[in-house]
This record gives sequence, structure tokens and C-alpha cells, in this order.
Amino acid sequence: MNTNTDISKSWITRRYTLALTIIALLCTVAFYTLLSAVKSTNSTAYLVNISGKQRMLSQHIALDVYRFTTKNEISSYELNIIKETLTRDAKEMLHINQILSTGNLLNKKNVTLSPIMKDMYFGDTHLASRVYEYANTALLLICDDKNINRYKIKEFIDKKAEPLLVDLNKAVTQYQIEGEQDLQYIQLLETIVWILTLLTLLLEVIFIFQPMSREIISLGILNDKTLENLENTVELRTLNLENANHKLEHLASHDPLTGLRNRLELEKYIEKAIEHNKQHGAPYAVMMFDIDWFKSVNDTYGHDIGDKVLVEISNIINSSIRENDQAFRAGGEEFVVLLNRINFEDSIKVAQKIRELISKHLFQVDDNEFFKTVSCGLYHSTILNANTVKNLLQLIDTALYQSKTNGRNRLTIVNFTMNTHIEKIVIPKTNIIFFDRTFKNLLEIDTEHICIDTDKLSNEKDFLSWVHKDDLYLLDNLPIEISEEEPYKTTLRLINSDNKIDICRVNIFEREEKKIVINLEHASLLAKKISDATLLIAFQAMLENTNDYIYFKDLNHIFIAASKSLVSLTSVETREELVGKTDYDVFPYEMADEYFKLEREVFDNGVSVAQKLQPTLDKDGNKAWVDNRKYPIYDESGEVIGLFGIARIVSDNGSSS
Ligand code: GH3
Ligand code: MG
Ligand code: MG
Repeated sequence: MNTNTDISKSWITRRYTLALTIIALLCTVAFYTLLSAVKSTNSTAYLVNISGKQRMLSQHIALDVYRFTTKNEISSYELNIIKETLTRDAKEMLHINQILSTGNLLNKKNVTLSPIMKDMYFGDTHLASRVYEYANTALLLICDDKNINRYKIKEFIDKKAEPLLVDLNKAVTQYQIEGEQDLQYIQLLETIVWILTLLTLLLEVIFIFQPMSREIISLGILNDKTLENLENTVELRTLNLENANHKLEHLASHDPLTGLRNRLELEKYIEKAIEHNKQHGAPYAVMMFDIDWFKSVNDTYGHDIGDKVLVEISNIINSSIRENDQAFRAGGEEFVVLLNRINFEDSIKVAQKIRELISKHLFQVDDNEFFKTVSCGLYHSTILNANTVKNLLQLIDTALYQSKTNGRNRLTIVNFTMNTHIEKIVIPKTNIIFFDRTFKNLLEIDTEHICIDTDKLSNEKDFLSWVHKDDLYLLDNLPIEISEEEPYKTTLRLINSDNKIDICRVNIFEREEKKIVINLEHASLLAKKISDATLLIAFQAMLENTNDYIYFKDLNHIFIAASKSLVSLTSVETREELVGKTDYDVFPYEMADEYFKLEREVFDNGVSVAQKLQPTLDKDGNKAWVDNRKYPIYDESGEVIGLFGIARIVSDNGSSS
């Protein structure tokens, strides 16, 4: 490719030089042609000039001869002047005659006389000899020889002057004609040179410049292609490098045996999930599986078979999760799965599915066939707020340990009794009555702690019958009623550390003489006394699996809500702020406006409850309604100091979702 380029370059250089040489030659020819033409016109002009002068001199001489011979009274001074003039004129005439008849110009240049002029000077007209005779005869007049007959000289001059003048005039005219012919010749020459120049340039364009420009363009294309090839090579190398980097990254982040992400990745992903949950309230679950009695596999069949079991189990796990979930090999025979954006029930289902799939899987090794089971610990973000990866993994570890100690091949869910990092939740002493219609006798618990002493629950057998044999389930089938007559009720589910009774469900408030009595000192005080995190944990159990929102609202319109999907409390000072906030962005502004008016009436003791169904969307995006009733909170003197209520999304026909 390089030699091609070099050949093209030298070819172009040669063409270019040739073109320039031709132009230079053309210019030189034009220059010399015009120069000689100009010179010849100069000579012609000179000849015209001196021939004219000769004509004039012939008359001067005739006049001087006449004056010299006819005027007797002239003074000797005048006579001398005439003599001088006559001598000078006659000599000049002779000199000019010499030039004109020979063509030898003063500056040693020669002009060739035209045939006409030659004929005039030396042919029948004898102009050269006649001028010679005329001037010399005039000169005789002034010599001092006394034998000279002046009269005869005068007569001769008189006789010759006129015909000589006529012929000299002819000569001048002829010179002028020849001068004009010269000029025409120059013009013709100029035209020819001009046409020749144009022709040459045209030929150069056709035969030199056009092929040259084609060559230059093709050379450019060649260069472009070379550059393109170079770019392709660089791109290819970059891609190779990227591939190598990807491979390296993969090696650093994946377990070579199972192909799952490794422990380092696990921590990164969980950290992201925690962050995402904090920022957007996205629920997530993390579960850890540990193979039961795995050591015995190694001991019985050898390490290689153990490895195969690990691979098969990792495959089962990997194929049981969704695309946007991640599986990790956390350690030797421990696997972790991160389930993104999943609700609590579904996360349990996934964990149980994996556990069951593994327990039913027949491992076949050589002639041996065996089953293996796994124990599982499950964390769900709505149950407990794990602030750090370390905290979260410790919690799962605790749950997993419980699964092991409870007999293996089972699932244990992380609950807040396992949390050693969060202080026991303390809410102000209230007279909220924990109450359940089904187990009324059990649940009249006046509590300072969110952890209810479940020992007080006498008929725990009933509860146990609701709980799954192996795992813990939230009970979510208690009737919930919304009616004017009945008090507003919702449920509080508590997870107890006592394994026998895992979950119970209670109503949290009851109507007293058509008023909801919640003897909080002040609604906003609650928010001040209890940190966001504490309040969230306190209520999350209650709100799990429901779409409830809890409202506290004081006279200054500070609005506080906690909900299942809320990570922190919403605290707004004006209704403008409220509309568009999380959980409320589906409320039309006009409706919010209307509802605020209604709330105002409750504050003003105009109505005992602010109730209005507001159009909204449920969590799946379906059209729904919010039963947004709020009740007054009274202080000891009976003044309304705030509002309290729970909003619930109800489906289109008015039943609760
Ligand atoms: P359990 O968890 O039910 O309490 O019993 P276990 O036998 O599984 O408990 P333990 O943690 O004592 O044993 C784990 C074993 O896993 C020990 C180790 O030999 C084995 N192991 C860890 N990593 C690998 C591995 O990469 N390949 C094989 N084949 N075995 C491994
Ligand atoms: Mg282990
Ligand atoms: Mg094990």
C-alpha cells in the first residue's frame, strides 16, 4: 500500500513539474515576441520621426539658400547666422539620409528597408542620391571659393526643392504606413500568443491537471481507507481489551465452581437494596440457604461429589428466581438470594419453593442416590429495618440458626425480636386498647412495649392451628369492617420471639361513646417523641399486607403518615405540600382541597368525623377509593387538638382491598 502511495506521489510531482515548465516556456516566448515587436515599433517610430525631419530640413535649406542669395541688405551678423543654420541643416539632412538609406540606426541597430523604400532610395526615384546632391550643393554656397556661382546654386536648389519635397513626403507617408503595419502585426502576434496560451492551458487541464486531480482524490481515498483500517484495528483491540476486562471482572465477582456471584458482590448488592429501600421504599427480601449435614456428603462420597452437589443446588436456586433477582454463593455451602421489589408473602413463597425443590431433588452419584435438604433464613424489609449489610446478614444468620436448631429443612423469618441493634421500641403509655373480636378475652393488653407478652394468650392452640407447620405465616384473614355504627378497626400483627405463637392480630382502637379515644397528649408530640425509624417499626407490623395509612394531624396542619410503603414519615406543613407527596400523588388537587375543608370542620367541632371517599389508584395501578376518615383527638378539657385516622384503599364497589 505504501509503495502505491509513493508511486502516485512521484507521478503527481512529475506532472506538476511538466505543467509548470510548459507555462514558464509559454510566458518566455510571449515575453520575447512582444519585446521584439515593441522594439521594431520603436525603430519604426524613429524612422517616421527622422524622415519627417528630413522633409522639414529640405524646406529650411531651400529657404536659407533663397535668403542667402537674394537679400543684399542683410548684415554680416545675420549672414553668419544663415550660414550656420544652412550648414547645420544640410549636414543633418546628409546624416539622416545616411541612416534612412542604409537602415543603420544610431544605436547600432539595423532595420531592413522595405522593398518600396529601397526602390524609393535607390530605384528610379534616386532619393538617396538626390538628397545627397541637394544638401551638398547647398553647402557649396557657404564655402569661401570665389569661383562658385551662387546664382546657379540658387537656381539648382529652387528647381530641385519642390520635387524633392514631394518625394520626401512620400517617404514619410510610406514610413507611417509601414509603422501602422508593424502595429497591426504586433496586435496579431498578441492575439496569437493569447490564443496559444489559452490552448496550452486547456491542454494542460485535459492531459495534466485532470488526471492529476483524479490521482490526488484516489490517494485521499486510499489514505482514508488506511485510517479507517487503523481505526478498525484500534476498535478491535479496544473490544478485545474490554472483553478481557469483562472476563477479569467476571472472575473477580463470580464463584468459579457454581458461576454464581461471590460474597463481595453479595455485600454490594445488598447495600444497594438497602439504599434503594431508604430512598424509594422499594421492598426487598434476602434469604440464606445452608445445606444440611453437608459435611457428610464430603465424608461419604468425597470432595468432588460434594462439589457436584453444590453446583446442582446452585442451579436449582438460580432457576427458581426471577431475572432481576440475584443469587450468590456466600460461603462454602451457603447460598444467598436477593429478591428485589417483592412483597413479604411472595418472598416466603420463593424461599419455600426453593427449599422444597432441593429436598425433592434426587442427587445421583455413580451408583449412589441421595437426597439433601437446606435450612433457610429470610429477611424482608417490611418486617425489620436493617440499616447495614452487616446487621442484615447477622439477622439472617440468627434466623438460619433457628432453622437449624429447630430441626433443619425449614424456613425462619427474621423478626424484630431478633434485632439486637435496635432498642426495644417504647411508645408513650397510652390507653389504646388492643382488642380482637375473635380473641377478645386475650388481648386486652395495656402495653408500654410493642412486644406483647404472648404468654398472656391462653388459647395459643387456636393460634397454632393457623400457623404453618414448618414456617411462619402472617395471618391476614380477620374480618375488617368499615361502617358508621362500628368503630374503625384495623389489625396489628406482632411477631413474637416465642416460637410457639409467631403471629397474632389485633385491633388497635375501639370507639367509646361514638368517639375514638386516643389519649395522646398531642398528635405532633408523638412524632417528636418517637423517631421516624422507631415509629415505622412500631407500625409496620400493623400495616404489613394492608394498604393502610396512619394519620396524625394537629391544629397546625402538621400531617404525619406512616404506611407500609413509607420508609420515613411524611411531614408536611401545608396542604400544597401534601398533594404530590409519596402515597398521595394520585389524589386530584381539588379533592384534597375539599377534604381539607372537611378536616377543618372536625377541628371546629362541626362534625365528629371527616369522612370522604377519595378517588385514587391502588398499589397495582387500578382505580380505587380511599376511605380517608379521620377522628378528632381530644385533650383532657375536651378540646380537639388533632386528628387521627387510618386511610384504607377500597376497591371500586366500596369493599376494602
Ligand atoms: P449443618 O450445616 O447442617 O449444620 O451441617 P454441615 O455439615 O453442612 O455443617 P458444616 O458447616 O460443619 O460443614 C460445611 C462443610 O462444607 C464443611 C466443608 O468441608 C464443606 N465445604 C465447604 N466448601 C466446600 C466446597 O467448595 N466443596 C466441597 N465439596 N465441600 C465444601
Ligand atoms: Mg455452613
Ligand atoms: Mg451446612
